[in-house]
Amino acid sequence: MCGEVAPDRVGQRVALAGWVDTRRDHGGVVFVDLRDRAGKCQIVVNPERAPQAFAAVHGVRNEFVLRVEGEVVRRAPEAVNPSLPTGEVELQVDSLEVLSRCPPLPFQLDEEGVDETLRLRHRWLDLRRPRLQRNIGLRARMVSTIRRVMDAAGFLEIETPILAKPTPEGARDFLVPSRLQRGSFFALPQSPQIYKQLLVISGFDRYYQIARCFRDEDLRADRVQEITQLDVEMAFPDRETIFALMEEMAAAVWGECIDVSLETPFPRLTWHDADRLYGSDKPDLRFGLELADATAVTRDSGFGVFAGAEDVRYLTVPREYSRGELAQLETFAKEWGAPGLAYLIFGADGEIRSPVAKFLSEAEIEAVRAAPGSTVLFGAGPRELVSRVLGQLRLQLGQELGLIDETAWRFVWITDFPLLEWAEDEQRWAARHHPFTSPVPGSEGLLESDPGAAIAQAYDLVCNGVEIGGGSIRIHRQELQQRMFDVLRISAEEQRSRFGFLLDALAMGAPPHGGIAFGIDRMTMLVAGERNLRDVIAFPKNQAGVDPMTGAPSDVEPGQLAELGIRLAPGVGGTGGASG
Ligand code: ASP
Repeated sequence: MCGEVAPDRVGQRVALAGWVDTRRDHGGVVFVDLRDRAGKCQIVVNPERAPQAFAAVHGVRNEFVLRVEGEVVRRAPEAVNPSLPTGEVELQVDSLEVLSRCPPLPFQLDEEGVDETLRLRHRWLDLRRPRLQRNIGLRARMVSTIRRVMDAAGFLEIETPILAKPTPEGARDFLVPSRLQRGSFFALPQSPQIYKQLLVISGFDRYYQIARCFRDEDLRADRVQEITQLDVEMAFPDRETIFALMEEMAAAVWGECIDVSLETPFPRLTWHDADRLYGSDKPDLRFGLELADATAVTRDSGFGVFAGAEDVRYLTVPREYSRGELAQLETFAKEWGAPGLAYLIFGADGEIRSPVAKFLSEAEIEAVRAAPGSTVLFGAGPRELVSRVLGQLRLQLGQELGLIDETAWRFVWITDFPLLEWAEDEQRWAARHHPFTSPVPGSEGLLESDPGAAIAQAYDLVCNGVEIGGGSIRIHRQELQQRMFDVLRISAEEQRSRFGFLLDALAMGAPPHGGIAFGIDRMTMLVAGERNLRDVIAFPKNQAGVDPMTGAPSDVEPGQLAELGIRLAPGVGGTGGASG
């Protein structure tokens, strides 16, 4: 390989094949950096040594594919390039063959900031860039490491259908019309959730799969519609077994991919504590700056906003902010829904500066008092709002104040999630994880009486503020599953038509079971240090959900639609492909 020509090969004859990374003409001698997946090697074409090769190299441009043969020699001391593993040597060429040519490029591979659509359109060029070569390589290593750990733990890899029935994971389904059953549709799986439960019920007590999941959601930098997950399910689970196995998996992945050794077991936080201290169910623990609670002490506050609030919490920042800075922080808080941002400055001079101080009692001020030279920022209102605003403010301040240790890996399990959440627009309870998640034994009785208070046997694994995995212990009794569907206001008929097969299976010897799933794209993004999921996927769609390279999704022949019994609504389609 080009990247493997090391000094121990000096004096040997070798043949290399690869892409022209750069070509430089130096007073009659031509230098080419030849590149392959392993790296680059400098080759030297000297007209006296190899007249034919010299003639051939003349028309060579970037990204031509060459095959060369010659002798590995040591570079002159002044020509050594210490930044390249092959920087001490070069290849003196005897013969050179052009295997493939390339026109001028739409963008240079070493160019920064190239438009993403242009990159995706020519993905075969984009993927040649060292960064993407590395990312895709990391991803492959991650998947093979995962398989090794799961196989060793006795899990069987089993595939599940892609043409499936809708699985509720909270996103829209991608639908596929059936030709043989006209008018009926498959859904692409949002996850193999029900299939994996059925596999365990079928006696495959330890299942896993590197599974493709499809969720028709709006796209963001950290969200794509087609995701790959490590999907896991087991019979007779106990949470500790699942946690320990997944910690082993994560430690192996971080070790193999980026040579980082993780300390296990990972710490745990209940959802309640995570929310209270960090205003988030995926807290970034690379820095402190915890929220503190002032609800009790402000109950009878002279400041009406505090007195009337369900929840009053605050952040103490070791800085005396100026009016201008506070105005900016207030704008930020308002973007997250806060009506305003109350503050107290404890000046270095011992003075307290704040428009609200005059309404607060001595006891209130003492309860939140901070060291001279600090600012206390308050959130007051419904608990969820306070969490959202202060949680986001905490992240923002962590960045601004440089509190985040960028070299740290902070994992944390979040446990004891609420089972249900109120869906305001539909005026009903919705499953927070999915409807197959079991309540903790003590919460079963709350399902009907106080659904909002029921706790789920659900857990997430969070790394540096990113949720990388999540799962639960499942409901394995038919009657409890039916009760859960009832709470979710899924009618008896709908329970039958959508989930009848699962309810039947649960009644026929279903063992206790549970599992988890990890986002492989997100994990790769983390270990690769990337901010954009698309940079760790070989052929991603763009922000608009379109593949600029193939033009997918595109329109189809009218005959194909007719076979499916489908007619497009007036004004829909017929544009010759979504990419234009
Ligand atoms: N099916 C869940 C998901 O895809 C994971 C699980 O509960 O195992 O998020």
